Amino acid sequence: MDSESLPDNVIPQDIMLQINEPEDNLQTKKHSKSLIYNHFTLNEINNKYNCNYCNKSYKVAEDGSTSTLWKHFKGKHNELYLEVNQITKALNKLEISQSLAFT
Ligand SMILES: [Zn+2]
Repeated sequence: MDSESLPDNVIPQDIMLQINEPEDNLQTKKHSKSLIYNHFTLNEINNKYNCNYCNKSYKVAEDGSTSTLWKHFKGKHNELYLEVNQITKALNKLEISQSLAFT
């Protein structure tokens, strides 16, 4: 019996979680406060953002982009990032789901 059924070897690829980061495409004059600033502290002396959770600091981007900060936050403090992301989503939806609690 020669079965020619070749198994489809699907090579698992690294699936990166693609989470939409807030974009600063709108060039508004207003200085919109990003959620990321809750997790970084601006050091006005050397114009750097210090991470609240580790010793990393990043220079303030000239265009005010926070992507570098988000990248660090997502990469190094992923649990916190996901938490923030969930909160953001929850706030956007304004959905309160009541879960049954085990008693
Ligand atoms: Zn950090």
